[in-house]
Amino acid sequence: MNIYDKLAEGDHQIIITSHRSPDGDSIGSSLALYHYLLKKGHEVNVVVPDAFPIFISWLPGTSEILVYEKNKEKVDQLVDRATIIFCLDYNDLSRIGDLAEVIGDSTAYKAMIDHHLHPSDFCDWMLSDTSSCSTAQLIYNFIEREKDLDLINNSISENIYCGIVTDSGSFRFPSVQAKTHLIAADLIKRGLNHSSIHERLFDTNTLKKLHLLGFSLNEKLRVLEDIPVAIIDLSLAETERFDIKKGDTEGLVNFALSIEGVEMAAFIREDTDKVKMSFRSKGDVPVNEFSNRYFNGGGHKNAAGGMYEDNLANTLEHFEENVRIFFKTL
Ligand code: 5GP
Ligand code: MN
Repeated sequence: MNIYDKLAEGDHQIIITSHRSPDGDSIGSSLALYHYLLKKGHEVNVVVPDAFPIFISWLPGTSEILVYEKNKEKVDQLVDRATIIFCLDYNDLSRIGDLAEVIGDSTAYKAMIDHHLHPSDFCDWMLSDTSSCSTAQLIYNFIEREKDLDLINNSISENIYCGIVTDSGSFRFPSVQAKTHLIAADLIKRGLNHSSIHERLFDTNTLKKLHLLGFSLNEKLRVLEDIPVAIIDLSLAETERFDIKKGDTEGLVNFALSIEGVEMAAFIREDTDKVKMSFRSKGDVPVNEFSNRYFNGGGHKNAAGGMYEDNLANTLEHFEENVRIFFKTL
């Protein structure tokens, strides 16, 4: 059965889940769908594996989000009686951390809405569109398919717009389609204040965050001599020095990629028990394949992430050795 028929059965108990290390698209698409399904009369809860960054905490509905790390018992109970589980902005259970077990074991009807490559087969229904710039755009399509565009209020449109803006680099990436702009135009026609959203997303830096940016660009950014790859790495001591909060390092990797001639950039950040990385590229450099091969990760062709369970020095060595091999095979 498709999700549209499933929803039409009557009032459902719905859980919306999205990936670990939430971002503007996972939270924006989840909350947009949350407000829409509430309007349709369902009982809805949004669950994420771990905390979301402060720069999106103003989105309508964030106070209702259940973080699994902090609400295990409650979430387990909700999943137990859920009739539908939405899986947004991820396509493999490995992306939802500790939530994977409870969601994987649940017998509720599962619906995936996602735009990443290579979806795993764990859902009853899938809307997997890798040509979409964001999952938020697919949520708009979903509402449009249900002929419910007139239900779009400010809570829905701010969340959709945030997902589109953050995942498309503010309408810059090649993944942006004419449809993306048509959606933005429609949301503005319906009363969305787009400029206040850009302000809330991008003009809310803390002094510490800007100091970290200065330090990273001045002292940590380097370009490899033999291949067009730029790297910024931060040790645990350095991140502690700048009192980094979730989301504070967002966008650093794009500065590295902006260097003329550079085709791939890596932001490599040491955590307590692992090293987390973000990869970005221009043109035909598939960083998702690189991340998948060497860092147990994935993502999109030009934006991917991964992790490595070792110290920073060994991670950097592993990275530099393999990125050279990777570039030789391109
Ligand atoms: P970011 O660098 O912003 O954390 O992630 C960039 C893209 O890569 C996002 O689309 C994200 O979903 C994906 N991504 C980030 N980390 C991982 C990971 O550990 N595994 C996989 N499969 N994808 C990731
Ligand atoms: Mn996304």
